[in-house]
Amino acid sequence: MKILILGGTSEAVELANGLDERGHQVTTSLAGRTQAPRQPKGKLRVGGFGGVDGLADAIRHDKYDYLVDATHPFAAEMSAHAVAAAARVNVPLLRLERPPFMEPALAGWWRVENVTAAAEKLPHGASVLLTVGRQQLEPFIARRDCRFIVRSIEAPELDLPDNFEPVIARPPFTRNEEMALMKRLGVTHLVAKDAGGGMTSAKLEAGFMLKVQVIMISRPHLPDAETVSSVGDALAHFDQFPARKRFFFLP
Ligand code: NAP
Repeated sequence: MKILILGGTSEAVELANGLDERGHQVTTSLAGRTQAPRQPKGKLRVGGFGGVDGLADAIRHDKYDYLVDATHPFAAEMSAHAVAAAARVNVPLLRLERPPFMEPALAGWWRVENVTAAAEKLPHGASVLLTVGRQQLEPFIARRDCRFIVRSIEAPELDLPDNFEPVIARPPFTRNEEMALMKRLGVTHLVAKDAGGGMTSAKLEAGFMLKVQVIMISRPHLPDAETVSSVGDALAHFDQFPARKRFFFLP
């Protein structure tokens, strides 16, 4: 089968590798936000499609048999485009979405709808570990009464005020590393997106151990689509289809 994977996650890379090994023709699409993304097997294309119209045209033009949305759970615009474009060109869509984080009993996370609500919820004088990515820092800039440690994979593009300290690091992190960071920097609050997955969950365990208050940003609502929650389930889904067309010649 010819499969287009909308990527940007480690699961997308693992799925592309698994489907390629099974003989499918896979193309992974990336938005182009990170400078050195992991290279999946198969083909790679980089950059936006130009909305629903552009994605639908690309699926039609390149004759894809299947579309997989393996974007990050917070990439809501791309996921909505995937649903609309797949319906328009009548190509089946599978969404691969990892489960949300599990809140430990008695952890008492504060749940908020978005980054703006998270910024408003912080108490005066908080020392905050911000792990919302480098592109959603704007609402926190107004909070000159808090101290922010901004952890991201690449340096923030915004000019940040003096109460912001960037920490550039790539997951995964261990619980001990997270505890050491939180202790060293005197962190009182942790702001995180409910991204789920094992790569970034250690910060939540560390926060629990150190009684750091977690402010968890809920996932955006996505339009309905057939969904699996692991790479294994996605591969099993495709195992019901033959990888390549086979031709039988009668004698
Ligand atoms: P978004 O808001 O949902 O999408 C904005 C636009 O970026 C889309 O309309 C599309 O442009 C383009 N785009 C997004 N994903 C794309 C892909 N895989 N291939 C081609 N174009 C794509 O997305 P976002 O939140 O900015 O995230 C961008 C990428 O980073 C996603 O691929 C996501 O998987 C990854 N990521 C996001 C987060 C996060 O917290 N949001 C975290 C880790 C990784 P056009 O309309 O022009 O097609």
